[in-house]
Amino acid sequence: MSTSVQRLKKLQNKKLWKPEEIIQILDIEYSRPPQQISKSPIFELILTVLSQHTSDHNSGEAMHHLLKVFPTWQSVLNSPVHVLEDAIRPGGLAPTKSKRIHQILKDIKRLQPDFNLGFLADEPLEEARTWLTSLPGVGPKTAACVLLFALGRPALPVDTHVERVSKRLGLVPLQMNAEKAHILLEKSVKPKDVYAYHMDLIQHGRRTCNARKPKCNQCVLIKKCPRNGVPITFLS
Ligand code: SF4
Repeated sequence: MSTSVQRLKKLQNKKLWKPEEIIQILDIEYSRPPQQISKSPIFELILTVLSQHTSDHNSGEAMHHLLKVFPTWQSVLNSPVHVLEDAIRPGGLAPTKSKRIHQILKDIKRLQPDFNLGFLADEPLEEARTWLTSLPGVGPKTAACVLLFALGRPALPVDTHVERVSKRLGLVPLQMNAEKAHILLEKSVKPKDVYAYHMDLIQHGRRTCNARKPKCNQCVLIKKCPRNGVPITFLS
Protein backbone atom coordinates (compact mmCIF):
# COMPACT_ATOMS: atom_id res chain seq x y z
CA MET A 1 0.00 0.00 0.00
CA SER A 2 1.44 3.42 -0.97
CA THR A 3 2.15 6.07 1.69
CA SER A 4 -0.59 8.36 0.30
CA VAL A 5 -3.22 5.62 0.44
CA GLN A 6 -2.13 4.68 3.98
CA ARG A 7 -2.43 8.32 5.01
CA LEU A 8 -5.87 8.57 3.42
CA LYS A 9 -7.04 5.46 5.30
CA LYS A 10 -5.66 6.83 8.58
CA LEU A 11 -7.49 10.11 8.04
CA GLN A 12 -10.71 8.32 7.18
CA ASN A 13 -10.62 6.44 10.50
CA LYS A 14 -10.66 9.65 12.48
CA LYS A 15 -13.67 10.81 14.47
CA LEU A 16 -15.66 13.40 12.53
CA TRP A 17 -16.57 16.94 13.54
CA LYS A 18 -20.06 17.58 14.85
CA PRO A 19 -22.01 20.48 13.27
CA GLU A 20 -21.90 22.50 16.51
CA GLU A 21 -18.11 22.09 16.72
CA ILE A 22 -17.73 23.19 13.10
CA ILE A 23 -19.81 26.29 13.79
CA GLN A 24 -17.83 27.14 16.91
CA ILE A 25 -14.50 26.91 15.06
CA LEU A 26 -15.54 28.58 11.79
CA ASP A 27 -17.40 31.40 13.57
CA ILE A 28 -14.06 32.42 15.06
CA GLU A 29 -12.19 31.87 11.79
CA TYR A 30 -14.51 33.93 9.57
CA SER A 31 -16.41 36.23 11.99
CA ARG A 32 -19.85 35.25 10.74
CA PRO A 33 -22.28 38.20 10.43
CA PRO A 34 -25.49 37.98 12.49
CA GLN A 35 -28.66 36.83 10.74
CA GLN A 36 -30.83 39.61 9.35
CA ILE A 37 -34.22 38.41 8.23
CA SER A 38 -35.37 40.40 5.20
CA LYS A 39 -39.11 39.59 5.61
CA SER A 40 -39.52 39.96 1.86
CA PRO A 41 -39.89 36.41 0.53
CA ILE A 42 -40.77 37.37 -3.03
CA PHE A 43 -37.74 39.67 -3.25
CA GLU A 44 -35.54 36.84 -1.94
CA LEU A 45 -37.10 34.40 -4.40
CA ILE A 46 -36.47 36.57 -7.46
CA LEU A 47 -32.97 37.49 -6.25
CA THR A 48 -32.12 33.81 -5.79
CA VAL A 49 -33.29 33.01 -9.33
CA LEU A 50 -31.10 35.88 -10.58
CA SER A 51 -28.13 34.55 -8.59
CA GLN A 52 -28.10 31.17 -10.35
CA HIS A 53 -24.78 30.61 -12.18
CA THR A 54 -23.46 34.11 -11.54
CA SER A 55 -21.66 36.15 -8.88
CA ASP A 56 -23.39 38.01 -6.02
CA HIS A 57 -22.25 41.25 -7.63
CA ASN A 58 -23.89 40.46 -11.00
CA SER A 59 -27.15 39.24 -9.49
CA GLY A 60 -27.26 42.34 -7.26
CA GLU A 61 -26.84 44.53 -10.35
CA ALA A 62 -29.59 42.64 -12.18
CA MET A 63 -31.95 43.02 -9.22
CA HIS A 64 -31.16 46.71 -8.98
CA HIS A 65 -32.02 47.20 -12.66
CA LEU A 66 -35.18 45.12 -12.36
CA LEU A 67 -36.46 47.24 -9.47
CA LYS A 68 -35.58 50.43 -11.32
CA VAL A 69 -37.55 49.43 -14.44
CA PHE A 70 -40.47 47.78 -12.65
CA PRO A 71 -41.94 49.57 -9.63
CA THR A 72 -44.22 46.61 -8.75
CA TRP A 73 -44.33 42.85 -9.39
CA GLN A 74 -47.57 43.40 -11.27
CA SER A 75 -45.78 45.77 -13.64
CA VAL A 76 -43.36 42.94 -14.53
CA LEU A 77 -46.34 40.85 -15.58
CA ASN A 78 -47.88 43.73 -17.50
CA SER A 79 -44.77 44.09 -19.67
CA PRO A 80 -43.50 41.85 -22.48
CA VAL A 81 -40.83 39.37 -21.33
CA HIS A 82 -38.13 41.01 -23.50
CA VAL A 83 -38.33 44.18 -21.35
CA LEU A 84 -37.56 42.06 -18.28
CA GLU A 85 -34.81 40.30 -20.21
CA ASP A 86 -33.16 43.66 -20.99
CA ALA A 87 -33.47 44.80 -17.39
CA ILE A 88 -31.77 41.75 -15.89
CA ARG A 89 -29.06 41.33 -18.52
CA PRO A 90 -26.16 42.21 -16.10
CA GLY A 91 -26.95 39.00 -14.20
CA GLY A 92 -26.27 36.69 -17.17
CA LEU A 93 -28.55 34.02 -18.71
CA ALA A 94 -31.15 36.76 -19.15
CA PRO A 95 -33.27 34.93 -21.78
CA THR A 96 -33.75 31.91 -19.49
CA LYS A 97 -34.08 33.80 -16.22
CA SER A 98 -36.55 36.36 -17.61
CA LYS A 99 -38.90 33.62 -18.80
CA ARG A 100 -38.56 31.80 -15.49
CA ILE A 101 -39.22 34.91 -13.40
CA HIS A 102 -42.20 35.83 -15.54
CA GLN A 103 -43.68 32.36 -15.12
CA ILE A 104 -43.02 32.34 -11.36
CA LEU A 105 -44.76 35.71 -10.95
CA LYS A 106 -47.67 34.52 -13.08
CA ASP A 107 -48.14 31.48 -10.87
CA ILE A 108 -47.79 33.49 -7.66
CA LYS A 109 -50.36 36.00 -8.95
CA ARG A 110 -52.79 33.12 -9.49
CA LEU A 111 -52.20 31.71 -6.01
CA GLN A 112 -51.55 34.91 -4.01
CA PRO A 113 -52.93 37.87 -5.99
CA ASP A 114 -51.18 40.45 -3.77
CA PHE A 115 -47.76 38.72 -4.22
CA ASN A 116 -47.43 38.52 -0.45
CA LEU A 117 -45.73 35.30 0.58
CA GLY A 118 -45.62 36.17 4.27
CA PHE A 119 -48.06 33.33 5.01
CA LEU A 120 -45.17 30.89 4.48
CA ALA A 121 -43.78 31.98 7.84
CA ASP A 122 -46.70 30.27 9.60
CA GLU A 123 -47.05 27.13 7.49
CA PRO A 124 -45.43 23.89 8.69
CA LEU A 125 -41.91 23.92 7.25
CA GLU A 126 -42.43 21.04 4.82
CA GLU A 127 -45.67 22.55 3.49
CA ALA A 128 -43.95 25.90 2.94
CA ARG A 129 -41.13 24.13 1.11
CA THR A 130 -43.58 22.17 -1.05
CA TRP A 131 -45.47 25.35 -1.91
CA LEU A 132 -42.28 27.06 -3.09
CA THR A 133 -40.88 24.09 -5.01
CA SER A 134 -44.16 23.76 -6.89
CA LEU A 135 -43.29 27.04 -8.64
CA PRO A 136 -41.57 26.65 -12.02
CA GLY A 137 -37.79 26.33 -11.79
CA VAL A 138 -37.74 26.55 -7.99
CA GLY A 139 -35.68 23.72 -6.49
CA PRO A 140 -34.83 22.83 -2.87
CA LYS A 141 -31.90 25.26 -2.70
CA THR A 142 -33.90 28.29 -3.88
CA ALA A 143 -36.80 27.36 -1.59
CA ALA A 144 -34.41 27.04 1.37
CA CYS A 145 -32.89 30.48 0.62
CA VAL A 146 -36.35 32.08 0.74
CA LEU A 147 -37.33 30.25 3.91
CA LEU A 148 -34.06 30.93 5.73
CA PHE A 149 -33.12 34.46 4.65
CA ALA A 150 -36.56 36.04 4.26
CA LEU A 151 -38.56 34.17 6.89
CA GLY A 152 -36.01 32.88 9.40
CA ARG A 153 -37.18 29.28 8.97
CA PRO A 154 -34.63 26.51 9.66
CA ALA A 155 -34.20 25.39 6.03
CA LEU A 156 -30.62 24.75 4.92
CA PRO A 157 -29.64 25.92 1.42
CA VAL A 158 -27.07 23.45 0.08
CA ASP A 159 -25.08 25.13 -2.65
CA THR A 160 -21.92 23.87 -4.33
CA HIS A 161 -19.66 25.02 -1.44
CA VAL A 162 -21.82 23.52 1.31
CA GLU A 163 -22.08 20.24 -0.59
CA ARG A 164 -18.35 19.98 -1.36
CA VAL A 165 -17.16 20.88 2.16
CA SER A 166 -19.70 18.53 3.81
CA LYS A 167 -18.58 15.66 1.64
CA ARG A 168 -14.89 16.26 2.29
CA LEU A 169 -15.59 16.43 6.02
CA GLY A 170 -17.39 13.07 5.80
CA LEU A 171 -20.74 14.53 6.91
CA VAL A 172 -22.48 13.07 3.85
CA PRO A 173 -21.34 10.24 1.58
CA LEU A 174 -19.23 11.35 -1.36
CA GLN A 175 -21.49 9.82 -4.00
CA MET A 176 -24.76 11.14 -2.56
CA ASN A 177 -26.67 13.47 -4.88
CA ALA A 178 -27.31 17.09 -3.89
CA GLU A 179 -30.99 16.52 -3.14
CA LYS A 180 -30.36 13.66 -0.68
CA ALA A 181 -27.34 15.45 0.81
CA HIS A 182 -29.59 18.41 1.44
CA ILE A 183 -32.08 16.32 3.44
CA LEU A 184 -29.37 14.55 5.44
CA LEU A 185 -27.46 17.74 6.26
CA GLU A 186 -30.53 19.69 7.29
CA LYS A 187 -31.55 16.89 9.66
CA SER A 188 -28.08 16.78 11.20
CA VAL A 189 -28.17 20.42 12.36
CA LYS A 190 -30.21 21.86 15.20
CA PRO A 191 -32.83 24.30 13.82
CA LYS A 192 -31.24 27.19 15.72
CA ASP A 193 -27.88 26.48 14.03
CA VAL A 194 -29.01 26.25 10.41
CA TYR A 195 -28.11 29.82 9.45
CA ALA A 196 -24.69 29.63 11.12
CA TYR A 197 -23.91 26.28 9.52
CA HIS A 198 -24.86 27.51 6.05
CA MET A 199 -22.85 30.73 6.32
CA ASP A 200 -19.78 29.10 7.86
CA LEU A 201 -19.58 26.27 5.34
CA ILE A 202 -19.93 28.72 2.44
CA GLN A 203 -17.10 30.88 3.78
CA HIS A 204 -14.96 27.82 4.37
CA GLY A 205 -15.61 26.57 0.82
CA ARG A 206 -14.77 29.94 -0.68
CA ARG A 207 -11.73 30.79 1.41
CA THR A 208 -10.07 27.51 2.40
CA CYS A 209 -11.68 24.32 1.15
CA ASN A 210 -11.58 25.40 -2.52
CA ALA A 211 -12.83 23.05 -5.20
CA ARG A 212 -9.53 22.64 -7.02
CA LYS A 213 -6.85 23.52 -4.47
CA PRO A 214 -8.03 23.02 -0.90
CA LYS A 215 -5.65 24.67 1.58
CA CYS A 216 -5.63 21.70 3.94
CA ASN A 217 -2.34 22.74 5.53
CA GLN A 218 -3.91 26.00 6.71
CA CYS A 219 -7.30 24.52 7.61
CA VAL A 220 -8.67 24.77 11.15
CA LEU A 221 -10.71 21.60 10.60
CA ILE A 222 -7.90 19.32 9.45
CA LYS A 223 -7.63 17.51 12.80
CA LYS A 224 -10.82 15.53 12.22
CA CYS A 225 -11.28 15.85 8.46
CA PRO A 226 -11.11 12.61 6.43
CA ARG A 227 -10.67 14.77 3.31
CA ASN A 228 -12.97 12.55 1.31
CA GLY A 229 -12.65 13.18 -2.41
CA VAL A 230 -9.70 15.56 -2.06
CA PRO A 231 -7.23 15.02 -4.93
CA ILE A 232 -4.38 12.78 -3.80
CA THR A 233 -1.74 15.51 -4.43
CA PHE A 234 -3.28 17.58 -1.57
CA LEU A 235 -3.16 14.74 0.96
CA SER A 236 0.48 15.09 2.02
S1 SF4 B 1 -9.50 22.26 3.44
FE1 SF4 B 1 -8.87 20.13 3.59
S2 SF4 B 1 -8.82 19.71 5.78
FE2 SF4 B 1 -10.03 21.55 5.49
S3 SF4 B 1 -12.15 20.89 5.33
FE3 SF4 B 1 -11.35 21.00 3.26
S4 SF4 B 1 -10.60 18.95 2.83
FE4 SF4 B 1 -10.85 19.10 5.05
